[in-house]
Amino acid sequence: MVTKFPDVWTLLSDARRRYGELFAEEPPQAAACAPGRVNLIGEHTDYNQGFVLPMALPFVTVVVGGPTSGQGVTVVTAAEDADEPRRVDFSLTGDGCSLSPGLPRWANYVKGVIQHYRAPGLPNFRAVVASSVPLGGGLSSSASLEVAFYTFLQQLKPDNGEKLGKVLACQQAEHTHAGVPCGIMDQFVSVFAREGHALLIDCRSLEATSVPLADPSLVILITNSNIKHSLTGSEYPTRRRHCEQAASALGKDSLRDVTIKELEEAKEKLDDVIYRRARHVIEEIQRTVQAAEALKKGSYKEFGQLMVESHNSLRDLYEVSCKELDELVSAAMEVEGVFGSRMTGGGFGGCTVTLLQAHAIDKAILHIQEKYSGTPTFYVTTPSEGSRTLSLI
Ligand code: ADP
Ligand code: MG
Repeated sequence: MVTKFPDVWTLLSDARRRYGELFAEEPPQAAACAPGRVNLIGEHTDYNQGFVLPMALPFVTVVVGGPTSGQGVTVVTAAEDADEPRRVDFSLTGDGCSLSPGLPRWANYVKGVIQHYRAPGLPNFRAVVASSVPLGGGLSSSASLEVAFYTFLQQLKPDNGEKLGKVLACQQAEHTHAGVPCGIMDQFVSVFAREGHALLIDCRSLEATSVPLADPSLVILITNSNIKHSLTGSEYPTRRRHCEQAASALGKDSLRDVTIKELEEAKEKLDDVIYRRARHVIEEIQRTVQAAEALKKGSYKEFGQLMVESHNSLRDLYEVSCKELDELVSAAMEVEGVFGSRMTGGGFGGCTVTLLQAHAIDKAILHIQEKYSGTPTFYVTTPSEGSRTLSLI
């Protein structure tokens, strides 16, 4: 019922074994990992220069490898993704085109990270990737792959070690090579997270505050709807554009600088859709700051209420929820001991996140399972640490 994932050491030993089978003659010399994340609150606020409050998951991507005296780069993933080949070979030198996006698609994340890596002169290398982050489920397997790969490259040819530069390079990789104009949250938390803490990120100043979240009487439950509505793909860019239009109609650089009063005063001159998108973002930014304060005080009830308000706003104003996510949230909220629940991630499928009392976990899982029209998967999680090197000794 609750899906258990291999821990980082199991993933590491699997990846090492795989590496040994493939490249027996040259043992791996470096290993690194980086986590996926779940966003507790602050949805669609990062690209509006607002606040987000994610935490890193115990699910990670591991990269193992080393320099080779052979030609070029070889990367192999253990992921059973789509119909794509799991091995890719390309060159670091030549005309530069070898790092251009292409097929297999999964390798674009890796190529992007190499392209944006902040130290010249990487050696040729081989690497094996293994991950416990569910792919495409809204828990940011993509950022965990980018950040883990970057952390691996840092051991082959160190950069200046500056962490924010690493975050920005990984975000760039996703923009230029995966074609996803994502905000900064996923890569940021994957680098900076601390165990037992959520991370309040100010996406304008790029400053972050760790907020303790290690109360043993609490559980953070992620429920995967196992639904991914394939829309046209234009929803995310369209919403970004609408937010920009709203900010510029109000004479501001971003919605971060707009108050609800200013929005209400301008309501008449705004298109209704643009007004509703902007209202979600402005209120969600406030909710996120308030939620971090509530967490610091241990006011879980207040935190939970803010989660539900966030969900309702994503459903009604931002219109990125779907029937399945709404069902999961409603079912969770019917269980005694549940503080709050909301969709998390971009929307139109993926996961919900629920904050509840530890004693209510079995009841909650049974109830959600009974009420949900689809087949959910459950992950019981704890706030975990950000990217790090792994010892091969
Ligand atoms: P999410 O980040 O929510 O998991 P995305 O669509 O942003 O979803 O990223 C998923 C994609 O990232 C996969 O389809 C695959 O191309 C790539 N990816 C992530 N992790 C791995 C991995 N371990 N091996 C190969 N590809 C991966
Ligand atoms: Mg992603």
